[in-house]
Amino acid sequence: MKTTKKHICRTCGTQYAASEEPPARCAICEDERQYVGWGGQRWTDLEELREGHAVRIEEDAGMLALGVTPAFAIDQRALLLQTDAGNILWESLPLITDEAIAAIKARGGLDWIIVSHPHFYAAMVEFSDALGGAPILLHEADRGWIQRPHPAIELWSGDQRRLSKDVTLIRCGGHFEGSTALHWARGPRPGGALFSGDALQVALDRRHVSFMYSYPNLVPMRTGDVIAMRERLAEYGFDDVLGYTWGRDILGGGRRAVDDSFARHLAAVTSGDPRRAAPPRRLSITVLGARGKVGERVVAEALARGHEVTAVVREEAQLDELPPAARGCVGDAGNAEDVARLGAAADVVISAIRPIPGQDEATLTTTAGLLAGLARTDARLLVVGGAATLRTPGSGGTLLLDDARYLPAELRPIGVASAVQHEALRAETRVDWTYLSPPAQLAPGARTGRYRAGTDELLVDAEGRSAISIEDLAVAVIDEAEHGRRSRERFTVAY
Ligand SMILES: [Zn+2]
Ligand SMILES: [Zn+2]
Repeated sequence: MKTTKKHICRTCGTQYAASEEPPARCAICEDERQYVGWGGQRWTDLEELREGHAVRIEEDAGMLALGVTPAFAIDQRALLLQTDAGNILWESLPLITDEAIAAIKARGGLDWIIVSHPHFYAAMVEFSDALGGAPILLHEADRGWIQRPHPAIELWSGDQRRLSKDVTLIRCGGHFEGSTALHWARGPRPGGALFSGDALQVALDRRHVSFMYSYPNLVPMRTGDVIAMRERLAEYGFDDVLGYTWGRDILGGGRRAVDDSFARHLAAVTSGDPRRAAPPRRLSITVLGARGKVGERVVAEALARGHEVTAVVREEAQLDELPPAARGCVGDAGNAEDVARLGAAADVVISAIRPIPGQDEATLTTTAGLLAGLARTDARLLVVGGAATLRTPGSGGTLLLDDARYLPAELRPIGVASAVQHEALRAETRVDWTYLSPPAQLAPGARTGRYRAGTDELLVDAEGRSAISIEDLAVAVIDEAEHGRRSRERFTVAY
């Protein structure tokens, strides 16, 4: 009597449905993204594989990690993610052993098996069978690549599937139409992680990712697919990128690394054509004074444009008042240590702290702390300051500070404090700064997205008014953060 076996391809590790004879070919390997082994198509099965191989079980990047040892087929790593959506096995392996089952059970078993794309389907059904029939979640666009159909397999569709507060699946496409990344907002470390599969592959420098249709055959991904992936990932923040196998991880600065990699890739394949290289890259922006009238609107504007925002407040109690999309931190702008810490990962630090009226000394101390701290980082500084040092129009050079038409006596102390602040910046040589002087009137209002910009003279309109809403001032602040045209300069804006 003939017996059936579930054959496993030796080159890609895919397990096929039971058959008496080995399949005639491996559809995964014959696809142009993979390759048939140099010695021709060869097969094994679980029993045979267990004789010469074991499951490597290790703690990796704060998670239980599983692989096959000695290396077999594509040599991917599977990770156990213990999330608020339950225990997720991310990716699967061609081999499963009693030790592997015991290790997963010791952590509470499986609620989900989720696989990024067909190259890692492997023996996913075996994992489900051995672990209580955990559902296997795959993108429906790749259903044609499933070689061992099974009732535990559930297909999802669309570009996003939210599993819980913290866990979202994102269809990245590109490598496979259904190529999926998993976003874990607060794990395994507090800054969150993107589990990228092969949609974005962590490069060997572990500071970039790359985008290929085929990695072994070096076939580039279509540019339109890369741009679409960039848009789908834009709203997600993460510190870490966990790649497809052991060590292929970006731990820290992951979001920025991915943004830089998209920009680098698109510049390379579009010869820098700006129309195709798409919107300004996502910046990491730290806002000091985030609960002030100006700071609050700067934070909102930066978030609305998709930037990663760290909102700094003076008191712990103010953290709850920040928008949830911002990362809240407590810090003191006058403390160089605080500033260096808060500015370390930032592209731009925006100070929206108001100078303290009549306390020139305190303003000077705060500014000195800010500059000393930022001198230890690569961040640019953008200060929303005062109007005191602008020249009044048609006055032949009189400063606003000395013109009672614009600065009534009771506001002179704050004018003096902001002049002190501006002077401190002008003397600064280490930090790349920009100073923004508001017009004479600055009050909450509408966001029109329009403004005029000037340099050292107060801007007034045809009726002699010099004004802007704080909302539009915030637009100007983030425009400058994105384009950075005014290095070591002051500018002013008004309607
Ligand atoms: Zn194969
Ligand atoms: Zn792949």
